[in-house]
Amino acid sequence: MKGMTDPTDEPDEDDSLPLRELHRLTGGGCTDCRTNYSAREAVFSVALGFKDAPRCLPCLATRLGRDRDELGEQLVEYVHRRECYLRAWRAAEGMDGATEPASRECGVPESTTLPVAPAPGSPDIAATWDAGDMGCGELVMALRGRMNNLPAGGVIRVTATDPAAPEDIPAWCRLTGHTLLAADHPHYTIRRRGN
Ligand SMILES: [Zn+2]
Repeated sequence: MKGMTDPTDEPDEDDSLPLRELHRLTGGGCTDCRTNYSAREAVFSVALGFKDAPRCLPCLATRLGRDRDELGEQLVEYVHRRECYLRAWRAAEGMDGATEPASRECGVPESTTLPVAPAPGSPDIAATWDAGDMGCGELVMALRGRMNNLPAGGVIRVTATDPAAPEDIPAWCRLTGHTLLAADHPHYTIRRRGN
């Protein structure tokens, strides 16, 4: 009977992509090293745009040229700031148990100061992409694909109307090492990292 169900237990279909992806990815092996990644690492992979090629945290860090511990801390911070990721994160914690060293809870986000206009002498735009209203894990996965098609240092101008884009795109750039040159929602100008 419907009245018996606690409505708060029902996931919201619209923003539960990270949770769905977590269940899909659970128990898989890292694309690079083949070891089984944890449920937390599955959530990290979705947040970074690697849901089509999930990896363990060390391999994600290697891919992105990032320090593993620092990347892990930033990811923990990131998933705590988004409701849909937080739901997947809580589920992942339940799956993993207390086997992993808990990174710090809900850190204070680093303040990000962004230029609202392109820097003087506008960068050469190598590509443009209209992401429409794509959001959450889909946007960053597609964005990762677009960035991969750019030469190192290449610049892409992205249009993303998702209401979470003003938070998601700067956070994703910080996590992945790309440079957000300008953000004026829904327009974002991003330079691919050097290598
Ligand atoms: Zn790995």
